[in-house]
Amino acid sequence: MLIGPDGRLIRSRAQAPEADLSGATAIACSSCVRAADGKVVCSQCERALCGQCVRTCWGCGAVACALCGLVDCSGVWEKALCTSCAMFEA
Ligand SMILES: [Zn+2]
Ligand SMILES: [Zn+2]
Ligand SMILES: [Zn+2]
Repeated sequence: MLIGPDGRLIRSRAQAPEADLSGATAIACSSCVRAADGKVVCSQCERALCGQCVRTCWGCGAVACALCGLVDCSGVWEKALCTSCAMFEA
């Protein structure tokens, strides 16, 4: 941060406004453009997920991203199964 001639704070580098989260290291969600807090990680590919994109297997409770994880059985995300549970189910 720099202080400009008019007394305002100026960022030394231009940053994307969306990524400006309390100065912490913002982790991008692997599925969307939102920032993830890094607490939820796909159990399959270990990429960070935001709360919107995380899928939870209703068989074993594993979390996974929409890409590699859970098989959508009925068109309802609450009924998603991870790959191993989907094998048992089939
Ligand atoms: Zn997301
Ligand atoms: Zn994944
Ligand atoms: Zn499962």
